Amino acid sequence: MTEPVNVTVTGAAGQIGYALLFRIAAGEMLGADVPVRLRLLEIPAAVKAAEGTAMELDDCAFGTLAGVDIFDDPVKAFEGANVALLVGARPRGAGMERADLLEANGGIFGPQGRAINDGAASDVKVLVVGNPANTNALIASAHAPDVPAERFTAMTRLDHNRALSQVAARTGTPVSRISGLTIWGNHSATQYPDLFHATVGDTPGSEVAADREWLTGTFIPTVAKRGAAIIEARGASSAASAANAAIEHVRDWTLGTREGDWTSAGVCSHGEYGVPEGLVSSFPVTSAGGDWQIVEGLEIDPFSRERIDASVAELASERDAVRSLGLI
Ligand code: NDP
Repeated sequence: MTEPVNVTVTGAAGQIGYALLFRIAAGEMLGADVPVRLRLLEIPAAVKAAEGTAMELDDCAFGTLAGVDIFDDPVKAFEGANVALLVGARPRGAGMERADLLEANGGIFGPQGRAINDGAASDVKVLVVGNPANTNALIASAHAPDVPAERFTAMTRLDHNRALSQVAARTGTPVSRISGLTIWGNHSATQYPDLFHATVGDTPGSEVAADREWLTGTFIPTVAKRGAAIIEARGASSAASAANAAIEHVRDWTLGTREGDWTSAGVCSHGEYGVPEGLVSSFPVTSAGGDWQIVEGLEIDPFSRERIDASVAELASERDAVRSLGLI
């Protein structure tokens, strides 16, 4: 048997964790013939629940699951990690200000970044799911000076998939025939789902986007506020779709994106499209050979520019806030 891939998952006993671990163990993330060893990180109060999940993982008798270990210490949890899924985060409590939230998460993602720096495998790929995901990725990366910043990514794949599904429903086009969609900016309500470079069946996305009333009144807000709509309908936040997006992000990063298409991911900016260097912002990306590449050269019209700039300004203000708190 080939050496198993070590996959560390934080917040493993949470609801996204519960929707995620079984699919990873079944080989859906890295390939049906790739053995994985799961390393679950939880806070001490949730370790028992993680043990319950591990018992269920055992009971699935997955051929691709080489073992499950549970930790409450990030230093141990990230030892040898090839893939790190940072799902656990401090949720915003009642009356909590943004600075409090950023500070609480700095206390989680700073030490985790350091643990990744010191102990993870040299090929580690990090995906941050826990919110505020882009800025949490920035904090973790800042504490991992020996790991290239390109290895720290934030998840906007769920937003991307939500946009695909909205366009499919609007036009009656199967999702498989829609390409070239992009989520720009922050994984927050300011994100900008961009249809202008898409191809929808045989129709240019710009034609679908020509109905500005639908674009600005329905499409953009529906994608941005879908999480809240799911909480309203389900009484709990989205979990299976978030887990699915995390799996697709890592699968595409590892195995490559579909020929002739791109996806969206929060990756470190080198100044592309005017996004300040160092911000973890969502871009159109392809992957080959285990590295993301930002798709360059897309023409950005004033309608898109304004929205990209607004979301990037929010990212810059989050960066400034964590900087003034001494978290980066
Ligand atoms: P979930 O598993 O539902 O969510 C985990 C994180 O993912 C939250 O920050 C959530 O942000 C975020 N998220 C990102 N995108 C989405 C999306 N589209 N839909 C829903 N969530 C999204 O949270 P639980 O409370 O069920 O579980 C969290 C677990 O993390 C707990 O078991 C807790 O013990 C653990 N934890 C672990 C830590 C650690 O390992 N050091 C630190 C803190 C917590 P949002 O809330 O904004 O939706």
